[in-house]
This record gives sequence, structure tokens and C-alpha cells, in this order.
Amino acid sequence: MDINNRPKNQFFKMTLQNRLVAGFMIAVCLTGFVATFISIWTINKTTINEVQNRVRQDINTAKLIYNNTLDRIASRIQFIVEGHHLDKLIASHHVLTIENIKALIETKPGMQISNNDMFLDMLTLVDANGKVIFRAANPKSRGDNILWDPLVRNCVEKKLLVSSTELMSIDHITKENPALSDRLKTDIVKTPLSADIGKKQLSEGMVMRVAYPVIDKKNRMLGVVVGGILLNGNIGIVDKIKETVYQNEKYKGRDIGVATIFQGGVRISTNVMTKNNERAVNTILSKEVYERVIVEGKDWVDRAFVVNDWYITTYTPILNMDNKRIGILYVGLLEAKYTDIKWRTIWINLGITTLGMILAFIISLRLGNTIITRIKMLKEASEAIAAGDLDYKLSPDKISGFDMLDEAFNYMSKSLKKRDDRLQEMHQQLTRTEKLTALGGMSAGIAHEINNPLGGILLYSNLVSEDLPADTPARKNIEKIIYQANRCKNIVQNLLDFSRTETGEMLPLQINSVIDISLNLVKGQSMFHGIEIKTDLTQNLPDVIGDKSRLEQVFLNLFINAADAMDKKGKLTITTKLNTHNEVIILVSDTGKGIKKEDLPRIFEPFFTTKEPGRGTGLGLSLAYGVINIHKGNINVESQPDKGTTFIISLPTTVSNSIE
Ligand code: ADP
Repeated sequence: MDINNRPKNQFFKMTLQNRLVAGFMIAVCLTGFVATFISIWTINKTTINEVQNRVRQDINTAKLIYNNTLDRIASRIQFIVEGHHLDKLIASHHVLTIENIKALIETKPGMQISNNDMFLDMLTLVDANGKVIFRAANPKSRGDNILWDPLVRNCVEKKLLVSSTELMSIDHITKENPALSDRLKTDIVKTPLSADIGKKQLSEGMVMRVAYPVIDKKNRMLGVVVGGILLNGNIGIVDKIKETVYQNEKYKGRDIGVATIFQGGVRISTNVMTKNNERAVNTILSKEVYERVIVEGKDWVDRAFVVNDWYITTYTPILNMDNKRIGILYVGLLEAKYTDIKWRTIWINLGITTLGMILAFIISLRLGNTIITRIKMLKEASEAIAAGDLDYKLSPDKISGFDMLDEAFNYMSKSLKKRDDRLQEMHQQLTRTEKLTALGGMSAGIAHEINNPLGGILLYSNLVSEDLPADTPARKNIEKIIYQANRCKNIVQNLLDFSRTETGEMLPLQINSVIDISLNLVKGQSMFHGIEIKTDLTQNLPDVIGDKSRLEQVFLNLFINAADAMDKKGKLTITTKLNTHNEVIILVSDTGKGIKKEDLPRIFEPFFTTKEPGRGTGLGLSLAYGVINIHKGNINVESQPDKGTTFIISLPTTVSNSIE
């Protein structure tokens, strides 16, 4: 387990960038090498198949050329027999005339069959008993009997043309044509792959032979003309094969295709070249091929090392008259051309793979860098958010492809900020409500306690005042006491209003008319001079259940505060509308000096004022708050210093939706 896990763990211990690079490289290398391997395998298979097919066809062509040569020898001899009326000549013993056919013997190697002229290496005329009448290439030697020669005997017996490739002893060959001895006296050379044959000479030669019967009109056997071509040292057939099949095509200075005739396992006619650029005549065939073709009699189609090169080869046996395997016909296609194609493809593949690896390395490095940079940026951003900086934004980067992530992050921080703001707002509202509720309780207590003694003071002061004559200074003093006691009563009443004590009558009313009444009360006053008043009141609003005079008091306070804040120049806008919950919304908006941020949480507290002593009591807004609360509504403020303030009041109507 432990051992198995180690490399995996180590891989994951690498940095993200290294892991990316390594992952990319492994993927590219694997694909590259698999692709190379598959293409090599495919190329190998298809080229080898194709080349082997080609070589199989080539050997058939070679066989045709080989057999065609035998046919041509036969027609040549037939021509001699019939063209020279040999039947009549034999009958008349005109040996001298017969000698004329000597001209048909040509001993220059390579010339014999390369064109239309057909020259023979040997030509002998025998009578019906096998006695030699004339040897064209050795006229002096005659009179011997060669009926022992299987070809001659066969021809005499069957009275038919007989043709085949035969092994003939060197003695027999040189007797037929002494000039041929030169082509037979060559040492056999060992090749590295050949069987362990010491230096020795061939004791036989391989001859393409034809025996043609000379028959008179009465079908009597007069004699036989037997002739042939010695294949040893004769390059005519192999060169013709090379020329016909391979058009003498060369690859890097070497023949692309070669052909060979073997006598047994020895090359006797070939265009395979040795290192010294000589024909590899008298070299020996590899033991393996020899075993298969000569011993087992089967064709060999495979690659084989021939003299100095690898060839795709086909070897096929050459049979004599008795169907004995006496030699081999061979064609080979130089493997180097196909091996070169193969290697070129391998190198191209490897080159592409290496290029791919380099590219993958660069791309993965760059990609890794981008990813890591972006991750770092995200990390910094999350840290900033965690530290409370909810305004932190990531600039969406379209190029790196991370814009989706950036946008998601920004969306998250935006929603977080929204929620945070709302939470803060709710928290503030809650603390303010709690504070105002506590203050309300306390104020109510104080007001009640003060109200009774104040009532007593007023009652007794009035009684005393009534008893005093009008012009006494004491009466003036007592009236001052009554005045101040009344002021206290007002304050106490305001405090009671703030502390939500329900006093007045709650009746259905139209809020627009309450606003109109309040506005008419103040707009003529000097403090509203220079102030533009604008109303935007939605008609046909549903009724609000409320205490008309108290609501008037709320609006009066708001209008007076607005006028105070604008100091005789500015605009007061009063708007009413219905919201989605069917509540009436009243907006009282001014363009005055606004409220400082730190004052905002305190403005609804009783006795909070920023005005100089004597001008403000700090009870206006606390009363408004208390009255709106009695009406189950809400009052809020939005203000920007130096720009203005808006008070927003919402009041339930007779058709309001229930709100949770
Ligand atoms: P007072 O008007 O007697 O000061 P209020 O309770 O009516 O008491 O108002 C409390 C304070 O709120 C005021 O002193 C003033 O600072 C501030 N305020 C109220 N309304 C406005 C307004 N429209 N513009 C600017 N400040 C205002």
C-alpha cells in the first residue's frame, strides 16, 4: 500500500504549475510515442506486404523471360533444321554444306539473347543412332555416339522437340565448344552467410538445351539437332529480367532490382554486385534459402541478405527434364529504399512529437503561470473580503479566460455587501427602536408624574390670580407662573405623544387632505418665503385610519424642519403614492443642508436638537415618530449633507396587504 501510494503522493506534492507541466508532457509524449509506434508498425506492415507482393509478381515475369528464352532457342533450332533443309543434307551426307550453320554459334557472353539475333553456344547434329555427324563449334570432333545424352535419347524416342535446363559435365560442354572452358574455370567464392564450402570449382555447367528431331516426309527419323546456351557466365537473361522488371532503376547508385540464376547454390549468372563493383558470380547462396528451395522445393519469399545488402527476395527452383531441382531463379528488390522511407517517417514522427512536447511545455508553463496568478488574485480578494473590505472588485480579464470566475466573485462580493448593508441598517433600526421604546417608557412615566402636580400648580395659580386685583404686580407674576406652567404642560403633552399613548379618535381619512391642511397652515409664514413648494399627490388613495390632528402635527413639524434646513431658499417637495403592499407612502423632501452622518441615528430621540437653545426643543421628530408608530406605520430618513433630506413615511390603509 505504502509503496504504491508513494509516487502518487509525490506527484501531488509538486506545485500546481509543475503538475500541469508534467501532466501536459506525459499526455503529449504518450500520444506522440503511440502515434509514432502505430505509424511505424503500419508502414512496416504495408510496405513489406506491398514489396513482397511486388516481388512475387516480379518472379513470375522473370520466369516468363526465362522460359521465353528456351522457346527462342527452340525456334532458332527449328529454323536451322527447316531453313537449311537438314533432312535432305543428312540424306546426301553433305557435311561441308552443313558446316555453314557454324556461323550460328557465337561465344561472346551477353550477346546471345539480348536482341533478336539468337546465337547459340553449342549446336550438334547427330544421326538417328546418336552418332555425331557435325559439331558446329568443334567440327573436328565427330563420329562419337551421344545417344547416352538423355535429351538426345528422349528426342529420338519421342520424335518430338525436347527442351529443358540441364546440368552438363564440363568435359561434355568443352567437347561441344572448347571456347566455353573459359566461362567455367572460375573458383567458387564463399560469402559470409553461405554454407561452409571450401574453395572449389564447379564440375558441371548449366545449359538451356533443345533437341529437335530431323524427320523426312515419311516420318522416318533421320537425326537430331541438339543445341543450347551455357548459362554460366551468361548475363543475358538476368540483365533482361532486370531491364524488363526494374527498368534499370537505381537507388543511391545501387540497382533497385536484381536477378540471379543459380546452379545448385552457386551464382552463375547475376547482376548482384560485390563491394568491388563486380558481378557476384560464383558466390554461394545462404544455407537457409538453399535448404528451402533446393532441398524442400518451395519458393522463398522474404527479406534476405544478398552479398552486401538486404533485399526483399523471391527464389524459385529451376527444374530439369526429370523434374530434379538443379538451380534457382532469383529476383530481389533493394530493401534500403523502403527502410529509408520507414526511417524518414520515424524521424518525422519523432520530430513532430518533440515539437509537440516543446509546444506543450511552453503552453503549460504559460497556462500554469496564468492560473497561479489568477488563483493568487482570488486568494488576495477573498482575504480582503474576509477582512471586511466588501467593496473589493476583480477586474474581469477576458484574455485569460477567467472572466467567469471574476464575475462570479464580484457578484458574490456585491451580494455580500448588499446583505451586510441591510443587516447593518436593520441592526441600526433595531437599536434605534429599542432605544426609543425605552425612552418612550421613561418619558411616559415622567410626564404622568409631572402632569398631576402641574395640574395642581395651574389650578391654584388661576385661583390666586382671580383673587388678585388686576393692577397689582403680584398678579403679573402669577400670570407669568401660569404661562410657564402651560409651557411645561405642552412639553409634557409632546412627551406623552412620543410615548405612544393613544388619545385622539382614529377615523378613516384621506392623507392628501391632511397634507393640504398642514401645508396651508405654514406656507404663508415668513419662514417659507423664498421656498418653492411642490406637491405630487397621487389621487384616489385608499383611506388611512388615523388621528387627523396628530397627523397634521407630524406634517407641520416636518415642513418646519425643512424650512429651517433650507434657510429661505430651496425646494420642498411632497409626494404621496401607493406601494405594492397598498400602503400609502409620503415623501417630504427638501434641498436643505442635510443631516450629518453621525446625527442620523439620533434625530428621533426626544430633546435631540442641533438648533441653538430657545429655537429647538428636539421634540418635533420624536413626536412624529410616536404618532406614526401609533398608526402602525414607519418613518425613515435619507439625507446627504449639503444636498438635502427626505423623510419617508409609510402608513397602512384600509386595503393594505398583511405584511409578515
Ligand atoms: P428641533 O427641530 O426642535 O431641533 P426635531 O426633533 O424636530 O427638533 O429635530 C431634531 C433635529 O433633527 C434638528 O435639530 C435638526 O438637526 C434635525 N433635522 C430635522 N429635520 C431636518 C431637516 N429637514 N433638515 C436638516 N436637519 C433636520
